[in-house]
Amino acid sequence: MHATISKHLLSTKLVRQHIVFFTGAGVSAESGIPTFRDAGGLWRDFDPYIYCSASGLREKPKEVLDFYNWRRRNLIAAKPSPAHLAIARLERWHDVTVLTQNVDNLHEKAGSSIVIHLHGELTKVTSSRNRQDPACIQSYPLDKPINVGDMAVDGSQLRPFVVLFDEYVQWEEAERIARDADVFVIIGTSLSVSTSIAFPSFPRMDVPRYIIDPVDYRDKLPWGYIWINTKASEGMEILTDEVTNGFKMYEQLWG
Ligand code: NAD
Repeated sequence: MHATISKHLLSTKLVRQHIVFFTGAGVSAESGIPTFRDAGGLWRDFDPYIYCSASGLREKPKEVLDFYNWRRRNLIAAKPSPAHLAIARLERWHDVTVLTQNVDNLHEKAGSSIVIHLHGELTKVTSSRNRQDPACIQSYPLDKPINVGDMAVDGSQLRPFVVLFDEYVQWEEAERIARDADVFVIIGTSLSVSTSIAFPSFPRMDVPRYIIDPVDYRDKLPWGYIWINTKASEGMEILTDEVTNGFKMYEQLWG
């Protein structure tokens, strides 16, 4: 076995690791929250260029706000899946950071302590004039619709605190965390938006890296990712076993 890798494996077995999860819509699919691009995904019924774009919000504000009001309402009853819970449970033994593209609150409901939302949060609202102004970002009840004419604190139209197409994703802190990971795990993302295209390349090549998704995306990833070909919940059982019992799949690939 290569000396650097074997030294790394020894240390990963013995010490508290910093495990970084990078999640997408697939981690919430088993909680009944539809993904975007799968069969049955939201894009079958909603044109993303209208409902998920800044120009759509400007041109058809009522339709777009109602789309988000519906998604916000759906979160009230949504429960974390076994995958969200397994990620939170790993904090007993390891330092865990969740970098999520999701706008739902299921990682928080599951008990994860550090969750960075790269694409915003449906539980919050902000200003249409300056969506990143901290003074305008506020928690907002999920059962209270955002209507045309409702105002943010700066007097502009109130909008959901989400990143729409053609809007900038602020990811510098998350990138630093990904680069610093001891173990990096991707779950349930089609790797097709700029965030998910970039993040798989950030972790170091010599740390264990996994992707849990029923679809094989290894041709979109740097070499060395281990594909766990299942849904998120079953995949997290396999991943927990891997982390707890000495990174056997990683050893097999790199050994
Ligand atoms: P996507 O719809 O493009 O891809 C979903 C991925 O999940 C696919 O690769 C699919 O194979 C996989 N998947 C489906 N069911 C799964 C399961 N049970 N277990 C594991 N994987 C499963 O979603 P994406 O790549 O996250 O797209 C990015 C955008 O989607 C983000 O901007 C995000 O904000 C948005 N989004 C978020 C939510 C949410 O917050 N829950 C829901 C829909 C879309």
